[in-house]
Amino acid sequence: MRFKTVELPHHIYIGEGEISKLGKVLESLEVNYFLLLTDSLVKNLVVVNLKNELADWDYDMMIVETARMEEARKIIMQSGFSDYDAIVGIGGGKVLDVSKVVSTEMNAAFISIPTTASHDGIASPVASFKENGKPISISTNPPSAVIADLSIIKNCPIRLLRSGYGDLISNISSVKDWQLARDLVGEDYNEVAASIAVMPAQLMVSKADDLDLTLSPHLLMLMRGLIMSGVAIAFVGSSRPASGAEHKFSHAIDYLGYGNGTHGEQVAIGTIIMEYLHERNYGKGNWELVKESLEKVRAPTTAKEIGLTKEQVLEALMMAKKLRKKRFTILEAVNPTKEDFEIILSKTGVA
Ligand SMILES: [Zn+2]
Repeated sequence: MRFKTVELPHHIYIGEGEISKLGKVLESLEVNYFLLLTDSLVKNLVVVNLKNELADWDYDMMIVETARMEEARKIIMQSGFSDYDAIVGIGGGKVLDVSKVVSTEMNAAFISIPTTASHDGIASPVASFKENGKPISISTNPPSAVIADLSIIKNCPIRLLRSGYGDLISNISSVKDWQLARDLVGEDYNEVAASIAVMPAQLMVSKADDLDLTLSPHLLMLMRGLIMSGVAIAFVGSSRPASGAEHKFSHAIDYLGYGNGTHGEQVAIGTIIMEYLHERNYGKGNWELVKESLEKVRAPTTAKEIGLTKEQVLEALMMAKKLRKKRFTILEAVNPTKEDFEIILSKTGVA
């Protein structure tokens, strides 16, 4: 019998002051020499305070300027192909994405230390770059450790936390898409990976009281959910559990270069639309609950709030139907027309 090996993070710490665990993690992963990647802002605000944690270690530090494949290659060249045991990425999406690629290329462990909670890339084995203005995804190894220090993440702009919330709750419709693919076209489905992805999202959406993402207990829930999302992706070796039609919609907006929304804001609005379709066509879904929960954290729920016109949203939705056709979603199952989408946009209040 053959088994497929699944690689998952060995160490996951989430909490205030958890960055103090870095030394312990390096020791446990038998790291002797590592490369620290960060950006100038985080270097001055965070890395500068890590004197104690880094004092006994042999490491080099480099600054990540852009989220591009070329940047990862440049760092590898500049490092002189050194024999690093690990790449420690401390920063937001840009730093972590470049760190993932560098660690995979250099065959070193990746230690992810996020300073924001803006999407589920913190623990996922996928790097998202823009090349020539177009979005691309690159498969990488998953992190060996994730250290999410809430006392640092708490200080990131609130808009990024709200975006992270949007990316997390998008799992509600992406997992429904996966189930649809299982039921209608016989796609392989992993019950555990699906649960890991969707349960934290459902938990947050169903929270009746007001959510304040800057409060430690709520930020902890968000962070845990985003990391679990990444783990679910690593579990099946595909973004399937956390990326369905709502992500196709967001990718279409990126391709078209419309608006000023973040990834999380775009997928969240996509989730309202796709939930509507799931509910209308299969009786499973609750777009109102999703919309209310986004309003609760003051994340955008309308096209206008992220700089999109109704026409642009319609164009993106029509384009989303043509993207990655092999990933079967509600769009492939229902094949909505432009008129259909128009009705949905007005019923949900998106545009
Ligand atoms: Zn996402």
